[in-house]
Amino acid sequence: MEDCIFCKIIKEEIPSQKIYEDELVLSFKDISPGAPVHVLIIPKKHIESINLLTKEDSKIISHIFLIAKDIAKKLGIDEKGYRIVSNTGEDGGQTVPHVHFHLLGGRSLNWPPG
Ligand code: AMP
Ligand code: ZN
Repeated sequence: MEDCIFCKIIKEEIPSQKIYEDELVLSFKDISPGAPVHVLIIPKKHIESINLLTKEDSKIISHIFLIAKDIAKKLGIDEKGYRIVSNTGEDGGQTVPHVHFHLLGGRSLNWPPG
């Protein structure tokens, strides 16, 4: 999608600090980290919102979770723990309309979030 910042990162029109990439997903460091480890995992397919996911996207979404636990291990936060979050819509605090999952860790995380 032309104006989408994450699609531009996928196309390398905007730089990112890549953590992992394959044919379905890309993971890179969040530009404004909220924890010592804060990476985003996004599908390469432009999907605006979790609300728009279909059965055809099942493989992508399950793949993202399998990749997330591998990244957590690679970044050394698997044993102490981490959080995977996907903000959706206005009340959820979604600011980029391309489905993405935050992987946060490296410190004790507050719950519930504000
Ligand atoms: P959300 O607010 O849940 O939609 O998450 C969007 C996230 O994208 C925020 O945590 C931003 O810091 C992050 N972000 C926005 N632009 C970039 C960028 N160019 N590179 C890396 N992360 C970004
Ligand atoms: Zn996009």
